Amino acid sequence: MEIYRNLIGGEWVAGTDVIRNINPSDTNDVVGEYAVASAKDVAAAFAAARVAGKAWGAATTQARADALFKIAGELLDRREELGTLLAREEGKTRPEGIGEVMRAAQVFRFFAGETVRYGGEKVASVRPGVDVDISREPVGVIGLITPWNFPIAIPAWKIAPALAFGNAVVLKPSEITPGSAWALAEIIHRSGVLPGVFSLVMGTGPETGRAIIAHADAVSFTGSAATGAAIVQAAAPRLIRVQAEMGGKNPLVVLDDADLSTAVTCAVDGSFFQTGQRCTASSRIIVTQEIHDRFVDAVADRLASIVVGHALEAGTQVGPVIDQRQLDKDLSYIDIGESEGAKKKVAGQRLNRDTPGFYLSPTLFTETTNTMRINREEIFGPVASVIRVKDYEEALHVANDTAYGLSAGIVTTSQKHAKHFQANVESGLTMVNLATAGLDYHVPFGGRKGSSYGPREQGRYAVEFYTEVKTSYVG
Ligand code: NAD
Repeated sequence: MEIYRNLIGGEWVAGTDVIRNINPSDTNDVVGEYAVASAKDVAAAFAAARVAGKAWGAATTQARADALFKIAGELLDRREELGTLLAREEGKTRPEGIGEVMRAAQVFRFFAGETVRYGGEKVASVRPGVDVDISREPVGVIGLITPWNFPIAIPAWKIAPALAFGNAVVLKPSEITPGSAWALAEIIHRSGVLPGVFSLVMGTGPETGRAIIAHADAVSFTGSAATGAAIVQAAAPRLIRVQAEMGGKNPLVVLDDADLSTAVTCAVDGSFFQTGQRCTASSRIIVTQEIHDRFVDAVADRLASIVVGHALEAGTQVGPVIDQRQLDKDLSYIDIGESEGAKKKVAGQRLNRDTPGFYLSPTLFTETTNTMRINREEIFGPVASVIRVKDYEEALHVANDTAYGLSAGIVTTSQKHAKHFQANVESGLTMVNLATAGLDYHVPFGGRKGSSYGPREQGRYAVEFYTEVKTSYVG
């Protein structure tokens, strides 16, 4: 079997070991073997990036924009093939995989435009005969560390602004899904991005990931809260900037005046699609008492017809869980919920399909309280809880009573409550009559409290993390 190598200093380099990339829909299917980069390989990637990055930062904005536009074009042209690869290694459905590749393409296209749009400003000095210029410069070499659940979109939304604003990049994708990142690296390698400006180093967090922190001028990380905190702490002695996008325990509030069908769609899509493996997934569904029973019955009805199956099979709505470890974690939280006194309105089952995979049907808990572990800790699987509350005020209180603050939704026909919720919920994203997941590519993304650290990602706000500001005075 071919071993996919790391891209270091513009060359494809063999590793010290290999990672086997397994299809979660069919564990007999090995997607590929991917080379592991050692700490020495990571150091070499940064050394090459330091040299090449200077030329990239000094290149014309047109040259940088052209390269990003070319990457976007190839991603779009190959969306079906790459979306299939993504679904095969990650387990989301093929349409979701294709959608994610398109999202990555749109991000590159957006930042191709930003490359020629961003700039500084000239302001009047408070002193006579003095000019003041504020300009933006590249930060240097950015280390990127990404998770498995969006294996092409998350690398894209970090790589595109980093390159657009003249930085060099060393990317370490998740060891669980290196295939999509490798395919993206191969496209970038042929795009006109100067050799050495972009490196791909694959491997585990403790080995390859940790080495990134020792060399980077800035680190952008997406992953779990525990890893994020460890990275922030490891980076602190070097005083480098860190952006960390982490987990969530996202509330979806359903009020008595909600349109029932909208509420059910928001809950089912937001909690269970993509196997609940989204940082924005609604895992706490907070429902006022009058609509509670009708809502819970309608969600249970809808879940009864959800098709859980092989990610590449037409008709599958929910693919498998990513791997055995995550499956064990999901099952253990289902036991924890029961032991805490929650009722299983819909009982998730381990399912057998034609191929051996990590199939688990959705679990909907009811009669839960916000103090239960299932409502405080991120599970990251097809498991959601309903919390019954008296009224809107209690719903808002419960929504905010969490260590996280990523995405919060409300389903209501009351403009007053929708507006109040948007203004008072403690989260980086709010959704009215929409599922808590499903976002645009051209606007900022990120959370508050334990969900995020550092400036926002994406859209025009990305420039804050990926540039240094210089204020120049001329007499
Ligand atoms: P994870 O924290 O286990 O791993 C994320 C990345 O960090 C991987 O590349 C991993 O190899 C690396 N890593 C692990 N330990 C490291 C260390 N000590 N030093 C450096 N790197 C290290 O997360 P995961 O399981 O891949 O992803 C799921 C998590 O990601 C969930 O918590 C989810 O909510 C979160 N997530 C957040 C967002 C967001 O934008 N807020 C988006 C997607 C996923």
